[in-house]
Amino acid sequence: MQTLYSFDTLRVLLNVSLRYLLFTGSFYLFFYVWRNKKYWQAKIQQKYPDKQHIFREIRYSFFTVLIFGFVIMLTIIAGSKGLTLVYTPINKYGYGYYFISILLMIVMHDTYFYWTHRAMHWKPLFKWVHKTHHLSTNPTPFAAYAFHPLEAFVEVGIIPIIAFTIPHHTSAITIFGVYSLLLNVAGHLGYELFPEGFASHKIFKWHNTSTHHNMHHRLVKCNYGLYFNFWDRVMHTNHPDYEETFNKVVTQRKQENVVAVPTGEAVQ
Ligand SMILES: [Zn+2]
Ligand SMILES: [Zn+2]
Repeated sequence: MQTLYSFDTLRVLLNVSLRYLLFTGSFYLFFYVWRNKKYWQAKIQQKYPDKQHIFREIRYSFFTVLIFGFVIMLTIIAGSKGLTLVYTPINKYGYGYYFISILLMIVMHDTYFYWTHRAMHWKPLFKWVHKTHHLSTNPTPFAAYAFHPLEAFVEVGIIPIIAFTIPHHTSAITIFGVYSLLLNVAGHLGYELFPEGFASHKIFKWHNTSTHHNMHHRLVKCNYGLYFNFWDRVMHTNHPDYEETFNKVVTQRKQENVVAVPTGEAVQ
């Protein structure tokens, strides 16, 4: 049993770290190295962060991966003892419920993220828990996991909460995890990929964009949400210039190589 758990721990750690490296690394290489000239117009802040900032993002992410792996492993052990709501086979409650369970996870995480994020912006907590993440004022994809270890525990907290409250198949929580990381990377990408008119469209405006979280890093006291623009709208915490900034970035994106790509490193 002991060997089984240590093998599983290694597998979980490998899984978490490879997933992080694959998503953040490939987006970074594509947008910041390989196609940086082609997509420069879509860069939300028209400057590159310093290399030392990128290294800091990677350094903190290393500890986040360890903490995520540790908590996920504890959740798996709880599941193996029948303490969580994980189930098999996949069609036990039908495929309809299978997809609903993924949606439930996303909605629950969106609410969890918004309110824990608001709490971490409370002055006494900000300094000790969340300030590290805000050292990136012009984030790259690597900032997706650039948390203080205490914040890493808060962020991965959604996994046991889901495991103990939503009946789910293991593959459903894996799909949720991949979707979550993808949206997290999009929020820190530094480039706007969402289509024109998205942020003010009567339906799509309820979903966040890359500009939304980028503004959170640049301006701090606004735009707290993760997937949806629901809580920010309900609580009036969207930056008043959010839609205008999104439109500006999209207009700038349409221009053909008018702006020159900076050759050296820009100061953040
Ligand atoms: Zn924040
Ligand atoms: Zn962030």
